[in-house]
Amino acid sequence: MTRKLLIAGLVLALFSSCKMENPFLTESTAPFGAPQFDKIKTEHYLPAFEAGIAEAKAEIDAIIANQEEPTFENTIAAMDYAGKTLSNVVGVFFNLMEAHTNDEMQQIAEQVSPMLTEYSMYVSLNSALFERVKAVYEKRNELGLAPDQMKLLEDNYKDFVNGGANLSDEDKALYSKWSEELSLASLAFSKNVLAATNAYTLHITDSADLAGLPEYVRTMGAETAAEKGLEGWAYTLHYPSYSPFLKYSTVRDLRKQIWTAYNTRAVGGENDNSDIVKQIIDLRIKIAGILGYDTYADYALEGRMAKDKNTVNEFIKNLIEPSMAFARKDVADVLAYAKKNGFDEKEFMPWDFSYWSERYQEAEYSLSAEELKPYFQLENCIDAVFGLANRLYGITFHELDNVPVYHEDVKVYEVKDVDGSHLALFYADFFPRASKRGGAWMTEFRGQCIENGVEYRPFISIVCNFTKPTADTPSLITHDELTTFLHEFGHALHGIFAKGRYPSLTGTNVSRDFVELPSQIMENWAFEPEYLNSFAKHYQTGEPIPAELIEKVVAAKNYLAGYGQVRQLHFGYLDMAWHTLKEVPSESVVEFEQKVLSKYPVMPAVENAAFSNSFSHIFSGGYSAGYYSYKWAEVLEADAFSLFKEKGIFNTDVATSFRKNILEMGGSVDESVIYRNFRGHDPAPEALMEKLGLVK
Ligand SMILES: [Zn+2]
Repeated sequence: MTRKLLIAGLVLALFSSCKMENPFLTESTAPFGAPQFDKIKTEHYLPAFEAGIAEAKAEIDAIIANQEEPTFENTIAAMDYAGKTLSNVVGVFFNLMEAHTNDEMQQIAEQVSPMLTEYSMYVSLNSALFERVKAVYEKRNELGLAPDQMKLLEDNYKDFVNGGANLSDEDKALYSKWSEELSLASLAFSKNVLAATNAYTLHITDSADLAGLPEYVRTMGAETAAEKGLEGWAYTLHYPSYSPFLKYSTVRDLRKQIWTAYNTRAVGGENDNSDIVKQIIDLRIKIAGILGYDTYADYALEGRMAKDKNTVNEFIKNLIEPSMAFARKDVADVLAYAKKNGFDEKEFMPWDFSYWSERYQEAEYSLSAEELKPYFQLENCIDAVFGLANRLYGITFHELDNVPVYHEDVKVYEVKDVDGSHLALFYADFFPRASKRGGAWMTEFRGQCIENGVEYRPFISIVCNFTKPTADTPSLITHDELTTFLHEFGHALHGIFAKGRYPSLTGTNVSRDFVELPSQIMENWAFEPEYLNSFAKHYQTGEPIPAELIEKVVAAKNYLAGYGQVRQLHFGYLDMAWHTLKEVPSESVVEFEQKVLSKYPVMPAVENAAFSNSFSHIFSGGYSAGYYSYKWAEVLEADAFSLFKEKGIFNTDVATSFRKNILEMGGSVDESVIYRNFRGHDPAPEALMEKLGLVK
């Protein structure tokens, strides 16, 4: 450890003496001032972080040392523009950590992470800085501020206040103590979930117990057993192992065993989370209380589009109540199918539903991903996605070969507006490789902003893991991948069209329950025959995609939509039940959960099963009083897209309004206001019900 630190120190010393050569610390000479990936080397990161943090701290110090009275410009705006070098290096480093990483970068990340925490505390716990922010905030109504300036001021002030800045010294000490306990409890919670997940193995030694499992699931089971030094086959509670076993195994008792193990994780036993759940709830109640909020949900929701707990509770109620009948019908349909095909048990349990719903889907909506792939050649899809942006917004994409990239697979495009003016650089990194994590995401190397009258246009990137072309087959993507591409491209457009002033309020810097609107709305086009017919042609024969294939895709999308919707809303409902408490309940966690969910039953409750004990999203992730936001975004996009459905899916008036009112605005104005400006009303749940086919 000491040696590592010593070496790091040497590297640092060496490079700070030749600062001029660090591409993060000199003006970029690449076209458009793009990141100089051709010059960036791993050893540049640490000194760049060091220098970036030092620069940012010096800028904060200068704000505090300013002898003039605090103003919006010399305090609030100055804070938002501070730390440019740091945000450049953060933008590149953390994106490449995901898209093109190596062991050295992982080590740097470990070194850098405490440095960044220290810097963020330097700002958030800085009482001299807070005094200035507060002085501006208190006279905010006399300053003649524009809406984005007011938003920036209020956001900053609230961040300080919710970080405890306004408390008495005594309360500050309590607040820090509780915050620290909370972060330790969350950590303990996720450790227990992981340990409980890893503690279970379904060990099979008799091949008769593999009945129903496809070959790949058997092979996987044999490999897992070998890894564990076991004979035969083994299945674990990790999703890729657990999920196919439940879907395919015809041995009911084993399905029950593995289902029960999964759904009683961290309930009782060695890795029990019951006390920790109560401790977390207790600490959150205390923290919300000391900051002056009625409940933790009020504290968490204040900065979101939904604003308060009543809105969220009403939202969930208005969706779940009309969905219940459809969910029950889904279960009844699956049961009827099961009975017709030999199911004769007394009770239809969750471990039966998982198996029979899969058989029913195969019988009713047989649709193989392979059948569709020949119609979705990646090059055609790229043209079609850019083409959609062109039809809607008039923008064009021009491939560039003189902008440096971090890997040869990455393509760079200049995005030009209708009038030919420059909008953004768009990086696309489509194919998997060992240095890239799985999944797909949008990111930016530089966000848009305007400083001292100079506009900085953004550098946007999307990263995916699509099948790479070979010598004789081009890259053919699945319909799911096309949908993913459109989703990430939607986030990219949010970045590309950004037109704000302040860095923290532009592009995708919007509240969590709003950020998926621009992305999810784009997915709709993947299910529109008019759009698919415009480009989906067989890569060998050129034959257009058959209409019945498109119909199948659309029908399969809404399979078990009622059941799926209620299930998602259960999570959101339970999350709100925990976070609107004013005291810790006296009953057990399992009892509390089963009591809450008994209001909207779909499947029979199982003794001792509870997902609270392993609900990491709300007890160790960032989704406390926030799980509803998945559905919230679905309602937003369904309601927004219904305007396109009404006026035409390529209607440029609707598109222009979407661009001006939503995509260009970033977080500069309250999201509920910008949504109303686009749609003319608050998000209406009926649009989602209709989209999912949940209408009578
Ligand atoms: Zn997204």
